[in-house]
Amino acid sequence: MTKIGSNAIGEQFDAPTSSADVDGSPQPVVVAARAPERMAAGKIQCDACPVLCQISPGRLGACDRYGNVDGVLTRTDSVLLLAKPGVEAIASTVHGWDGALLNDAPVFVSGVGSGTTYPDYKPAPFIVSSRVDDVDFVTVVTEGIFSYCSFKVKIDTDRYLGAEQSTVRHRGEAVGHVTTIEYGSQFLSLGGVHHLTGGSKKEGRVTCDLMMALGNGEAVELDIEGGAQLAVQAGRPPRINGVEEQRMRVGCGSATIGIFAKQWYGHVDEVVVVDDHITGVLTEHQAGRCLDLPPSGIRVRGRKSTPGRYFQVANPGTGWGGTDIDDPLTIIEGWDPEVAKPGLRLLMVSTTGEHAEWFELDEALHPVRASMPAPVRKVVERIGENCEPALATVLFVGGAGGSLRAGVTDNPVLLTRSIKDLLTRVTCGGAPAYVWPGGGITVMVDVTRMPAGSFGSVPTPAIVAPIEFTMPREFYAALGGHVDRIRTIADILEGERHRVAPIDARNPWPLGGGEGGGSP
Ligand code: SF4
Repeated sequence: MTKIGSNAIGEQFDAPTSSADVDGSPQPVVVAARAPERMAAGKIQCDACPVLCQISPGRLGACDRYGNVDGVLTRTDSVLLLAKPGVEAIASTVHGWDGALLNDAPVFVSGVGSGTTYPDYKPAPFIVSSRVDDVDFVTVVTEGIFSYCSFKVKIDTDRYLGAEQSTVRHRGEAVGHVTTIEYGSQFLSLGGVHHLTGGSKKEGRVTCDLMMALGNGEAVELDIEGGAQLAVQAGRPPRINGVEEQRMRVGCGSATIGIFAKQWYGHVDEVVVVDDHITGVLTEHQAGRCLDLPPSGIRVRGRKSTPGRYFQVANPGTGWGGTDIDDPLTIIEGWDPEVAKPGLRLLMVSTTGEHAEWFELDEALHPVRASMPAPVRKVVERIGENCEPALATVLFVGGAGGSLRAGVTDNPVLLTRSIKDLLTRVTCGGAPAYVWPGGGITVMVDVTRMPAGSFGSVPTPAIVAPIEFTMPREFYAALGGHVDRIRTIADILEGERHRVAPIDARNPWPLGGGEGGGSP
């Protein structure tokens, strides 16, 4: 067989037998990247990404992921094996293992520290067999180099962070933008090919650094043009203008009226739930009407949407209910003297219950602040109790639909189809990945469920992230997989530098049954 050179860990390998061999078509003679003629003696060239670093003995390449160890290109990290829950000691588990398939593999070979397939036709660095319920499976493991990737960040807050489409900056560079507000959360889109490659060199580098930090669970600082300063860390409360956010709102103003209307009944004459999006007014709202509450005569600023639901009562901000107001009375235009009565009891409250004030109308129908009655205070506290802790959530979105697939099979579209047909499960560092419908293999994964330090980068710039494809062995063969590169877990335990860590307890076992990408 033709030697096609060394893989990312310096190992020599043979050309795989392919269908082209069988039909007699001429085969390309593929060599390891030839050393440039003027490369200094002792240096080696890394070909694990397009940068093609020339690395001196004992030194590392530009990304610190590969080094020249005694003249051999070596991945500095060892491959990470994830231990199945309940498996305490891998060594004793596999002691005496002759390399045959165990029916219930104790470890899953993750892509973390595994190496890459660049320039794409190389077989993935780890193609691993395992057996589940007497069915043979193959997991194809690699570190993808993602130019097309981004992070979607969900920030649980009502506070105004910035206008939709505003630019988000990190260390002065544009790294993303504000996208839509969802229910109680503001979304940001950070990174992406536009910022990695479409701007200045500095913009690309800063974007790449930011993405790697976010993916690896570090806190990052962001400035939104015309908006807030943020500190964001996956799985932690966001800090907005230096203040840690505590509560995610219970609902919009209208929903808050509906949820608590019965509990206010008999204790109030009117409730206004202040919200930047939909401010609710109890006696006009359907919830109040169904309780047969009489009109209060209140006139609220803003644009009336439907009864008891008002848009744009104030400007967005970091005050009551995500508006810019500190005094809730500023959203009350007045009272209908034909309807409102002195002594009318009014509660104004925000959607988190953090802001709440109690008023009573005087003889001139002016609201006067007063001490809030205990039963009303109790419902306000219940609003707070129903708010979940505010968090920043970080999802990695990466497009694995391109060249990365060639490390799996000679016929890449078959891999895509097998994923869409739920025959192949996709994980990222053992974490379940959601695969978007439609073309390509666009995955989305919660970075907090991936192993620590999963994300790296190369100076092209691009992000490096682990990805694993698991499928029945017969499918792997059928889709043109590199079957001659399949190794057992025992081969890897005995022949590869590796480290072992427990899989995140929230993740389903990647070699187990269940939903999320079909068998196994
Ligand atoms: S930057 Fe690219 S070529 Fe250089 S060491 Fe890292 S992977 Fe290898």
